[in-house]
Amino acid sequence: MTISASIYDPQTECMSREQLRALQSERLRRIVRYEYENVPLYRQKMDAAGVRPEQIRGVEDICRLPFTEKSDLRDSFPYGLLAVPKQQIVRIQGSSGTTGKPIVVGYTESDVEIWTEMVARALTAAGGGADDIVQICYGYGLFTGGLGAHQGAARIGAMVVPMSSGNTQRQLMMLQELGATMLCCTPSYATLLGESLRQMNVDRSRLRLKSGCFGAEPWSEEMRQKLEELLGLEALNIYGLTEIAGPGVAYECLQKNGMHINEDHVLAEIIDPASGEPLPYGSSGELIFTTLTKQGQPMLRYRTRDICTLYDDPCPCGRNTLRMGRISGRTDDMLVIRGVNVFPSQIEAALIGVGGVAPHFVLVVERVNSSDTLEVRVELTEEMFSDTVSHLEGVKRALAEQVKSVTGVQAKITLAPPKSIPRFEGKAKRVIDNRKL
Ligand code: AMP
Ligand code: ZN
Repeated sequence: MTISASIYDPQTECMSREQLRALQSERLRRIVRYEYENVPLYRQKMDAAGVRPEQIRGVEDICRLPFTEKSDLRDSFPYGLLAVPKQQIVRIQGSSGTTGKPIVVGYTESDVEIWTEMVARALTAAGGGADDIVQICYGYGLFTGGLGAHQGAARIGAMVVPMSSGNTQRQLMMLQELGATMLCCTPSYATLLGESLRQMNVDRSRLRLKSGCFGAEPWSEEMRQKLEELLGLEALNIYGLTEIAGPGVAYECLQKNGMHINEDHVLAEIIDPASGEPLPYGSSGELIFTTLTKQGQPMLRYRTRDICTLYDDPCPCGRNTLRMGRISGRTDDMLVIRGVNVFPSQIEAALIGVGGVAPHFVLVVERVNSSDTLEVRVELTEEMFSDTVSHLEGVKRALAEQVKSVTGVQAKITLAPPKSIPRFEGKAKRVIDNRKL
């Protein structure tokens, strides 16, 4: 299916790099002063770093500013980082999956508005508009996925089907009966939906889906192919994090060559996670965001822990914004196995590349005689499950070789029966690290 995609806000999204830099510089000067005056922690951090707001003349001075970390949000829970009185906050959202103290973020009316616009841009880039029916199966609640996608879809005038997560049979019934043209959920849940349809022998021609905005967790190009084949849609990546806004911080257009960053609202940098030094576009490192327009809980050089690469070459779609590549891992979910850095996303790509296995896997890391072992438990497809033992041994060898060639680590492959690895309706959990116990 060919999808005609328009641009939600051509003036901003297609602005030249020079214009954009000037806009960012002006906004940065303003927000740094605002943060210094309104958030005690930022004032303390800037004083400690010996930098005053007037020394920040533009984006070229960004590296003089101190970083903010997740622990700053935890330590100031719940309201310590607000830059406005609580009366101006109209929404609280929170982060999923953190251990211990949660983090929450307060949004003013203007913050919700800007976030809505960011998602509207993402859905428009995915070919969305007023004629679309958008089924949202991200969770609704403190997690930003559901409400974020909802607001954006409503903004472009689409018909919203706010399913939230869970109840797969009902999701599938609604998909067919209401005829959603766009799907918003995690890539792992989209896989589950697609596989369930296949098991029910529902031909994908029964669906009217044309595109899907999948995010909130890492996934791979191989997974994209799998999803496109299962659901018959264009599978696009969407990225965000609660601390900055939620989904829509960056989004892929139909060119599928990286996610356009909403740079008029966020300033992105890549740093070396060990030294904190800035890295040039094109190199892989930790992604840092500074919000440029946020009022409620602005973020100053926030260390996302996400590892990726930024690209500034032009995109054929006409947008001139920086693009971020797939998140290849997090500085905190990176496994170091016998001294080698391994990311679950690399393993996913290796497994799907071999074929015969479903994109459901768990990594189990143990320490045996002071040496690390990696076991990859991966599920066989139904067809493979009934195959001969000798053939399965071949599959196992091929998988081990592929994992070794992609990660450099020798892994034990365990083939698991179909449907034996847990499914996730939200973000998938792929690592069991028994070394920490
Ligand atoms: P949360 O604030 O709980 O929604 O989590 C945000 C985190 O989810 C990000 O920092 C990323 O680690 C991850 N995330 C969100 N979107 C994506 C994506 N498209 N690809 C990979 N990871 C993602
Ligand atoms: Zn593009």
